[in-house]
Amino acid sequence: MQSVFKADYHVHPDYSFDAARDTIDEYCERAVTLGLREICFTPHYTAVPAVVDKFGFVRQKGEKVPVTSDWLGDYIGEVRAADAKYRAKGLRVFAGLEIDYCESIHEFLKKRLIEEYKIDYMLGSVHLVNDNLDIMIPSEAEYIFKNTTPTDFYDAYFGEIDRLIESGLFASIAHIEGYRRYGVHHNPDYLDSGLIPYKHFEKIFTKLHDRNMTLEINLSLFRDGQNVTNPVEAVLKTAYDCGIRRVAIGSDAHRLKDLAISVDSAVDICRKIGFGVFSLA
Ligand SMILES: [Zn+2]
Ligand SMILES: [Zn+2]
Repeated sequence: MQSVFKADYHVHPDYSFDAARDTIDEYCERAVTLGLREICFTPHYTAVPAVVDKFGFVRQKGEKVPVTSDWLGDYIGEVRAADAKYRAKGLRVFAGLEIDYCESIHEFLKKRLIEEYKIDYMLGSVHLVNDNLDIMIPSEAEYIFKNTTPTDFYDAYFGEIDRLIESGLFASIAHIEGYRRYGVHHNPDYLDSGLIPYKHFEKIFTKLHDRNMTLEINLSLFRDGQNVTNPVEAVLKTAYDCGIRRVAIGSDAHRLKDLAISVDSAVDICRKIGFGVFSLA
């Protein structure tokens, strides 16, 4: 029997430069109120050379500093203190990162994040495709989705996902249908359930299963009105059919009020399909 419970494994505290100033402690307090059993923080770690000047920053003690500078000690220390404080209240707290991957920084990521800092949860994300345009930035997404057919886009996007998996650095993949957020504004094909690229998903999910990795049920589309999980239920069913038995739940909150948004819908889908909830505890 798989264990299903409320957790949030994708949370951007104040360390994330694109997040509100809500602190790790404030998120933990709210997590207890919401009845979460586990929370894992995932500030962005964007060190990809092509975009490091644009996105490669974090906030440390209120100051903007390069993501490659020495802030991880502070961050992990704060997470460990929160874990010690909130454990008695039934909440476990973990230190993750949401990371953009490319081969040229493979050794750097491995040495720094896995060997030196022993990050609890390496969450891999593909935000960047086609010469490093960001599918989560509206203007760049518009350019990509207007100038690429879905077939070509999927080839490029799932190629990036494949490289991320093959790197062997990651435990999980974030928002695997990341193109849904903005793609749908430019081409209705991205919304058409009859056009879901199952061939790509089957290949990717089989590989995830072989490598004992997981994917997340990302809940951020509940805050921008699409009100579906990412990936949608039909794709999650495909993941199950490919052998995956545990999935991570992640709200992708960038401010306190979005913590664990619609977590119950993720819990319901887990029960319905038969997934357990991913846990580091
Ligand atoms: Zn992301
Ligand atoms: Zn995120």
